[in-house]
Amino acid sequence: MIISAADLTVSTIKADLCVIGTGPGGSMVAMVAAEAGLRVVALEAGALVTPGEMNQREADMFPRLLWDAGGRTTMDKAIRIHQGHGVGGSALHNLNLCKRIPASIQARWRADRGDGPPWEALYDEVEALLEVKDVDSGMVNRHNQLLAAGAAALGWEHGLLRHNRTGCIGSGYCEVGCAFDAKNNALKMLVPRAVKAGAAIVALAQAVRIDHSGGRVRGVDAVRLDPHTRQPVGTLRIDAPLVCVSASATGTPALLLRSRVPDPSETTGNSLRIHPAVVAAGEFAEAVHAWRGVPQSVECTEFLKLDDEDGPRTWIVPAFAHPVGVATLVPGLGEAHRAVMRHYPHLGALTAMIHDQTRGTVRPRGDLGVAIDYVPEAEDRAELRRGLAAAVRLLFAAGATRVLVPAGGAIELSRPDEVATKLSVDADLSAVHPMASVPMGVDPKTAAVGPTGKHHHLDGLWLSDASLFPTSIGVPPQLSVYALGLHVGRQLVEA
Ligand SMILES: Cc1cc2nc3c(=O)[nH]c(=O)nc-3n(C[C@H](O)[C@H](O)[C@H](O)COP(=O)(O)OP(=O)(O)OC[C@H]3O[C@@H](n4cnc5c(N)ncnc54)[C@H](O)[C@@H]3O)c2cc1C
Ligand code: SF4
Repeated sequence: MIISAADLTVSTIKADLCVIGTGPGGSMVAMVAAEAGLRVVALEAGALVTPGEMNQREADMFPRLLWDAGGRTTMDKAIRIHQGHGVGGSALHNLNLCKRIPASIQARWRADRGDGPPWEALYDEVEALLEVKDVDSGMVNRHNQLLAAGAAALGWEHGLLRHNRTGCIGSGYCEVGCAFDAKNNALKMLVPRAVKAGAAIVALAQAVRIDHSGGRVRGVDAVRLDPHTRQPVGTLRIDAPLVCVSASATGTPALLLRSRVPDPSETTGNSLRIHPAVVAAGEFAEAVHAWRGVPQSVECTEFLKLDDEDGPRTWIVPAFAHPVGVATLVPGLGEAHRAVMRHYPHLGALTAMIHDQTRGTVRPRGDLGVAIDYVPEAEDRAELRRGLAAAVRLLFAAGATRVLVPAGGAIELSRPDEVATKLSVDADLSAVHPMASVPMGVDPKTAAVGPTGKHHHLDGLWLSDASLFPTSIGVPPQLSVYALGLHVGRQLVEA
């Protein structure tokens, strides 16, 4: 059953397990636990938005699918952080790229934090479950072809990406939800199995506190949200001896801290990574029509050498291409901005995203919000500048006639050699991959949660989402979050 909280006729539900959040991490645990016979209730702060309701309009879909309608930022408002809500979490609107955490990063985690999940076996299972495959070369749109052409002209390493889509018609609307139900995501692949096995998914129900006493979990106190205003309109109580928090790398530490969950390691909410990213937009003589087709199908990995701890750590891919999204990326105001947007069909954009070292913090803000502090440290700022310079060079190599970089105002470059003089200021930043805010580790003295997902310091409490990574992973996270969910779900059922 999937039900909106407002339609519930009871104010208390009893369950064996309450899962908080239904993204890749939460849906997987709900599915595994329900199929093992547990009575599962999953709370989701967002609504149920079915493919039939995804009308491809940014103005309608961003408020329905994204926290703060896509306007969530760090506390100093310097970095935009996109995160999703809705049954299925951020996987509803994400771009379906699937990559494994490199073996070198897994090995570093084992050395620093003790044994972890059996990643490769989990990846094999999850890739089969989500039908992960190479993007068909026939699906590479002009925007992505230009990235490949620019990289080839420079002799830079690049290649096709892998994704979890079946039946994709290349409409290009992934970022506002797939009306064609081609994304093999949590909503399509996991939630129906969880529901079939008896799980109740309660949408528009936001957990406010984890109730605990005597060293163990007792349940969850939540609020019912109005679907339009997203303001509380009532309360809801789940009595459950087991709680799995999967509210994302921002929502999870905020909830744990608000609930005063004990953590002698003092690691909860203190090591957030986000893969901060810069953007450069190129204007081309030809019409690129970047909004048509699979948005991201080619990557440039020339500056992503994660096996070398001191190597470059920047990943370059095409950036999003819908009108409002592009308008917020393109620099300038008034007539200057309009002049750039008139060339919209001729624009291409690249994003350079880094494997970050900076540790940000997450704290609760009131009963429903999160406060994110993240100021890139000097080494990360230098890496971002190198990544931006590379993206600009790539655009020129692909044939751009001029390149624009949002940096407070606009930086305009008309030649590749201008990167040395014109890119001295820090560019605007955004992020779509929050993670590592409650890092797992074997030792309770240095970690709040173990590598099984079980909390070290509160009985009955489990975690399953991107919070658990010990560090940044340098690659898109969803595949690894699905894999963690499978691992945590099984450990929880067996415990
Ligand atoms: C624009 C964009 C594009 C992306 N593209 C890719 C990509 O191509 N490949 C990739 O690997 N990754 C991508 N990602 C990232 C990926 O989607 C996330 O890393 C992944 O979804 C994280 O899973 P999660 O379960 O940790 O959290 P989420 O998917 O964010 O799910 C958490 C859920 O918990 C809910 N929640 C939060 N607080 C509460 C509460 N208190 N009570 C109840 N519910 C709550 C939220 O509403 C949300 O639904 C993208 C992200 C964005 C924003
Ligand atoms: S490009 Fe494919 S996956 Fe994306 S919205 Fe269109 S049909 Fe769906």
